[in-house]
Amino acid sequence: MPDVLEILDRAARGERLGGGPLDDLIGGYVRGDVPDYQMAAWLMAARIHGLDFDDTFALTRAMLASGETLSWPDGWRVGDKHSTGGVGDKTSFLVGPICAALGVRVPMVAGRGLGHTGGTLDKLEAVPGYRADLSLQEMRRVMEETGLCITGQTKEIAPADRKLYALRDATATVAEAGLITSSILSKKLAEGLTGLVMDVKCGSGAFMRTLDEAEELASRLVGLGRRLGLPVTALISSMDQPLGAACGNGVEVAEAASLLRGARHAASEDLRSLSLELSAHLVLLTGAAWDLDEARAKCERALESGAALDVFRKTLRVQGGVEAALDPGGPLPAAPYIHHLEAESSGWLERADALAVGRACVRLGAGRSRKEDDVDPAVGVVLERKVGDEVEAGETLCQVHYRDEASLDRALPLLREAFAVSESPAAQPMLIQGVFSTLA
Ligand code: URA
Repeated sequence: MPDVLEILDRAARGERLGGGPLDDLIGGYVRGDVPDYQMAAWLMAARIHGLDFDDTFALTRAMLASGETLSWPDGWRVGDKHSTGGVGDKTSFLVGPICAALGVRVPMVAGRGLGHTGGTLDKLEAVPGYRADLSLQEMRRVMEETGLCITGQTKEIAPADRKLYALRDATATVAEAGLITSSILSKKLAEGLTGLVMDVKCGSGAFMRTLDEAEELASRLVGLGRRLGLPVTALISSMDQPLGAACGNGVEVAEAASLLRGARHAASEDLRSLSLELSAHLVLLTGAAWDLDEARAKCERALESGAALDVFRKTLRVQGGVEAALDPGGPLPAAPYIHHLEAESSGWLERADALAVGRACVRLGAGRSRKEDDVDPAVGVVLERKVGDEVEAGETLCQVHYRDEASLDRALPLLREAFAVSESPAAQPMLIQGVFSTLA
């Protein structure tokens, strides 16, 4: 049994702990020997003093060692994309299929939404029948059959992160760069990857509000990946407005399906570009192209030819979902009512605040405020105008898909605040604000 009080005392003074004590602490916590209140005390010390590079490295290794590491047949290129979380962020439904269509196997272990940010699993569960609780054996079978698997964290993969994340969420200790880095990399290393592309979100709807914070996280992810032998490329992308048009669950699957079918919509262009760029970096990182230009051209073809759509259909089917959910008018849940929020004046849209839209989605029932809440797969917000667009008074800024008047009444004040129209032209935000890579 580790001397937990001594470890906590050193942590409270801001001392570096090193591998041994962190192994003891994490091992003890996963076994149940170290209770939540002691772990919470350590987390708060880490949040206040920050974790340096060596302790972040030691923590990541201890978290990885808490579970199994997947292994794959020789010669497989195995990659994944992970986002730090945002609003309308559905790139997984494009990046996974595009990369798998190009021979990169993607064992995506995804999460659920909490607070104003959405979760990939909640969105996919809007597809009737879809199972997100695959065993390791089932994951291997899906990977062999389709090249892409999207499932939830199992008790075998980095169990320390599963337990710690829930505690961090309840103790205001999520937002520390070392804790975030070790949480992400321990899970991703356990997937047995050849390469990882990170989408580090930056802006009002992200954990990292400023470019400085996002750059620090991106450089830590890349630096620690290098030390742990995992090639990482981190893109910093804007999260001041929602990504694409749809925010919610079923509505996001519908938007991604429409892009996979080759459709183009002005409000979805940022989603399409970011997904292609993330895919190209993953294709390059896993050695499936000579250079970034070739990788970009391959990804564009995989999307345009319908090859990516075919992979996604197959993955849905093999994971128990109804693949017709990807067809126009397919069997995705639909909200009973749609309200159109209109512009009150003419001009240019200068703000569509991601945080406010994300919070409005939670009030509509699309997200959860507590872990145990259910999400409504049908409701959400669909943007018709994006920042920089010209708007006329009376035009729809966004559609609100809602189930009852009470939830609409709770969401509307946030949405009215979220949008602002200016009399002078407003610039479109820069979508990709930086790239950090072990390849550089
Ligand atoms: N995403 C994760 O997986 N972990 C964090 O700590 C934050 C975002």
